[in-house]
This record gives sequence, C-alpha cells and structure tokens, in this order.
Amino acid sequence: MTSHALTTSHLNDATTVVVKVGSALLVDEHTGAINAAWLHQLAADLALLTSRRCRCVVVSSGAIALGRTQLKGRAKSNARLKLEEKQAAAAIGQVQLASEWKEALNTHDLSTAQILLSPDDTEQRRRHLNARATITTLLDSGIIPVVNENDTVATMEIRYGDNDRLAARVAQMISADVLILLSDIDGLYSADPRHHPDARHIPQVTAIDDDLRAMAGPANEDYASGGMVTKIEAGRIATQAGCHMVICNGTAMNPISALIDGATATWFTATAKPPQARKTWIAGGLNPVGTITLDDGAVNALQSGKSLLAAGMIAVDGHFERGDLVAVCDPQGQEIGRGLINYSAHDAARIAGCNSGEIQGILGYRGRDEVIHADDLVMTAST
Ligand code: GLU
Repeated sequence: MTSHALTTSHLNDATTVVVKVGSALLVDEHTGAINAAWLHQLAADLALLTSRRCRCVVVSSGAIALGRTQLKGRAKSNARLKLEEKQAAAAIGQVQLASEWKEALNTHDLSTAQILLSPDDTEQRRRHLNARATITTLLDSGIIPVVNENDTVATMEIRYGDNDRLAARVAQMISADVLILLSDIDGLYSADPRHHPDARHIPQVTAIDDDLRAMAGPANEDYASGGMVTKIEAGRIATQAGCHMVICNGTAMNPISALIDGATATWFTATAKPPQARKTWIAGGLNPVGTITLDDGAVNALQSGKSLLAAGMIAVDGHFERGDLVAVCDPQGQEIGRGLINYSAHDAARIAGCNSGEIQGILGYRGRDEVIHADDLVMTAST
C-alpha cells in the first residue's frame, strides 16, 4: 500500500488524534524565537482536523528551547545545558509556549488547555485514570489540550526525556486512533538519506524488530531530544495500544493538510483497535489487589457491557487504592472480570450498595458514578 492510501484509510476513521510537535520545528535554532508563522498554519491544520470531527491533542516541545535564551550566559550558546539549567529553561519557556499556542489556536476559534505530565501520570494506573479523565473532559468540551513533560520536576531517572515517547504514552492513555509525529523528514528510510542518496523510503512498518532499529540514526540531543530511535519506540508503544502512528515531514507549511493530500510518510500500523488494546493492557496488569463481589443485577449489567455502579456491590475485600486492578466476582465468588477501580478499598466499602447520588454525602466528595468504568473493565468469564 502507498503511504497516501494508508493515510486515507487510517485518518478517515480517526476520532481522536494526537499531534506531536518538536522544538526544532517550533523554535528557531539560532535565535531561540518562536516560528510564529509556522505555528499559525499548524493551528489551521488542527482546525481542519477538528472540522472533520476529529478530537485533537497536541504534544508540544519547545519549553527548553524558548526558555534557554533567558538564562544567563546561555542566550546564543550551543553548549549543552546541565539538568538544572534545562529545568529552569523549561520553567521560563513553558509560560511562553502555552501562550503562543493559545494565541495561534484562538485565531481559529479553538480553545486550549495546558497539561504537564510526568511518567507516573501515564505509567501508574492510579494516576493514569486522573490524567485520562481530565483530557477526556477537555476533549468533550471541544478544547485542544497542549501537553508537555513537567520538566521542572523531572529528574534524570524519572523523566520521559523525549516527547516522542510522551506523545505515544498520551495516545495510549486516551485511546487515540492516530498519532502524528511531525518530523524534519518524511519518514523512515533504509539508511540516512542525507548520506546515502540511494536510501529507500519505507511507507509502512508492520513489525518493530532489530532490522528496523538498525536503520534509525542517532538523535540530535543538543537541541532537542528524539531522532528515529525514539520514534520507533513511540511506534511500538502506540501500535501496542491500537493506535496507528505516522512520521511525516513537518518542515513545510500545513503539514497535516499535505499528509491528507498524499504527502509521503511512514505509517506504523496497529492491528487491534484502541478499546480492545486497552483491555489487553488491563488484563495483562499485575495480579488484582482486591475483590469486589456483585449482586446478580450488577453481574448482568456488566455482562451486557455496562459500567459497575456502587449499588451493585455487596462486598469489598483487600487493600487497594484508586486506579488499582481488582477482581470482580459474582455472588458465588466466581471471578467474572477484572478492572481498574475508581475508589480506594476504604471508600468502596462505604458506598457499597448505595445509589450514585448518595456518594457525596457519604464520602464528602463527589466521586465518579462509575466504580469501574466499562472502558476499564475486562470480562474474563461468564456465569
Ligand atoms: N519537554 C522538552 C521541552 O519542551 C522537550 C523534549 C523533546 O524535545 O522531546 O523543551
């Protein structure tokens, strides 16, 4: 299949798209100034996606590249920054980055919100539910979340380090259908095309193996993280989550329109759909740390694809926190499914058997109506 045919088939069906924008596209390497004209035309592309009924999330780098110019002695220097300098630069630059995005999107009547994430927010199931719910709520309100790593609190060991992987984790977390990585090249080649004029373009990747990894050149770590190595890793994360990923050239104006119109690109094709892949991820989690026993009505509801409500719980066992994996059992104690629970064991026990409207009065806070959302529940057996 040509990359254009893949674009048409993958993007036509997409309802949620993550677009990753790197520092090298957004910030002028020499002056440290924002490429405002480029950003404004990208906002037009996002408006185009929105008009196609696609919900968009942007993962934008650029905080460090924008902020470093204001660090003493670093303005025009190409020297590598120390970790604390990167963090200080990110703290400065993130303010500007968010405001540039706001201005560009507002021009197209689009609103934005800033989300800063750390690996714990996407990796730990507990925090993951919060970040997923926040982003989904923003998307439901027609807002375009602009995500970056929370660089100022990240340490060397605890950081994504590059926004390719962050973007893939975000795509996984929100069950996106397509992840678009805007790069400085139109995809993967059999060798680095700058040094090998006979290098072959690869329109589609269906398996991520050592041969593919061997084709990836090193990253330009000074200015921005990433390179093909992290893009391939992002492809692995995204496709496992049921999300197709495309690497396309973002250097020209309107790169997403160009992609839709048939620009060359490399597609990493997922085999499963995001909801199915999410269930595999949940089922593949660690052992359940608690058990919820349901009444017959709730067992029937779950088996017909509904969420678990507090009223259907008759017993809660084990020590667990919100976001942990629990087993769900029928009244006879037979496991019928597993899911990520929205309440701690303590709070779940207090609301067991109650109507959703009573939760606030009992717990003192307005929790979710769904004790386990249908999206976070995998049925393992039928009774
Ligand atoms: N989070 C970093 C920034 O905003 C960039 C990381 C990356 O370039 O991948 O500057």
